[in-house]
Amino acid sequence: ALRPNDLEAYWMPFTANRAFKQSPRILASAKNMHYFTPDGRAILDGTAGLWCANAGHSRAPIVAAIQAQAAELDFAPPFQFGHPKAFALASRVAALAPADLDHVFFTNSGSEAVDTALKIALAYHNIRGQGARQRLIGRERGYHGVGFGGTAVGGMVANRKVFGNLLAGVDHLPSTYNRAEQAFTKGEPEWGAHLADELEKIVGLHDSSTIAAVIVEPMAGSTGVLPPPKGYLERLRAICDKHGILLIFDEVICGFGRLGHAFAAERYGVVPDMITFAKGVTSGAVPMGGVIVRKPIYDAFMKGPDHAVELFHGYTYSGHPLACAAGLATLDLYVEEDLFARAAKLEPVWADAVHSLKGLPNVLDIRNVGLTAAIDLAGKPDAPGKRGFEAMDHAFHAFDLLVRIAGDSLVLTPPLIVSEAQIGEIVEKTGKAIRAAA
Ligand code: PMP
Repeated sequence: ALRPNDLEAYWMPFTANRAFKQSPRILASAKNMHYFTPDGRAILDGTAGLWCANAGHSRAPIVAAIQAQAAELDFAPPFQFGHPKAFALASRVAALAPADLDHVFFTNSGSEAVDTALKIALAYHNIRGQGARQRLIGRERGYHGVGFGGTAVGGMVANRKVFGNLLAGVDHLPSTYNRAEQAFTKGEPEWGAHLADELEKIVGLHDSSTIAAVIVEPMAGSTGVLPPPKGYLERLRAICDKHGILLIFDEVICGFGRLGHAFAAERYGVVPDMITFAKGVTSGAVPMGGVIVRKPIYDAFMKGPDHAVELFHGYTYSGHPLACAAGLATLDLYVEEDLFARAAKLEPVWADAVHSLKGLPNVLDIRNVGLTAAIDLAGKPDAPGKRGFEAMDHAFHAFDLLVRIAGDSLVLTPPLIVSEAQIGEIVEKTGKAIRAAA
């Protein structure tokens, strides 16, 4: 039995929680741009929860939609019945996606969305009689969740190496960010295309007809805000087209306005074959994710040629009524408050603000795109925690600011409702915390 004060017993082993033993951190509530602790502290949310609360926290229309839905229809068995809000949300999400990506599979998380997309890719080639294309390609410093597929294609070596070969064959493109190389190639316009040519090298190692899909985050988010160099995504698209390889954009972070557009595919002008989404679709209020695909891919996966193949794929909670209600209310808020365009408009203000931190102790590099920023810091081997990042975590907590400390980077991704004054406050507190932990 759980003892009332034995919170450690069910505390998860994440960064901030490692500090839990010294100073318990509990949240009581959230509203708009803030979290509140039981003792009344207001913590400014510089991370949109975990890249998800793009419309801010506990917004009244989303809360009302969830409450009304819970009272009206709590659960709809997805293999016998549809319900209107699932269709409505699927068509609203698809309408935000580029070109002919117009069919949606719902999942409950980003990890499930990624595993679903990878399964679709493997099945697609097989069903079309193109042989067993079983190889998948991810990218170093990419993050695609913690499912089997996402772990295997993920680019955080430590996250995958203990599991051995999870899939039949996986290769990783090099990361688009390498500090020394970037400094060397700054200003070289073709750098992005050259880097994407690494895909040709991987294709050259294997028969191209064995490769099912390439999955990348258009902008690698949780591993430190790594925007694609110019020409990179275009070249990936071209190489995939040449070899009949599917291109998947994992937009779990990039989607729903984070980069000033509904999806990063629109920002960068490159149309993938599938888009995975989660997080911002419900502003974090109810777990939900999904995959947006083209009709031929949908048909192949669901029906097979001439309906000859019967595949089963779906979750008990696919298109859950509460998630769909929350999603529709969230998308309404994005439209009513024009939050995607707002993020685009704030981008230069945000950029100026975060780059003002240049020159502070231990700051090595600052990157930004849309309403995201990462500040690379030199670790301090003599300080507590992993190279001093525990001290940094404590400093941020002391200044009542939520940030994400990912590896050697501080990652800042406020809700899209952030005011200019709050951007100032985030940057001021970040500066204070960096100085305090120096
Ligand atoms: N893909 C990307 C790009 C992500 O950033 C994340 C989560 N941070 C995931 C997949 C996994 O999503 P979830 O944690 O909802 O499973």
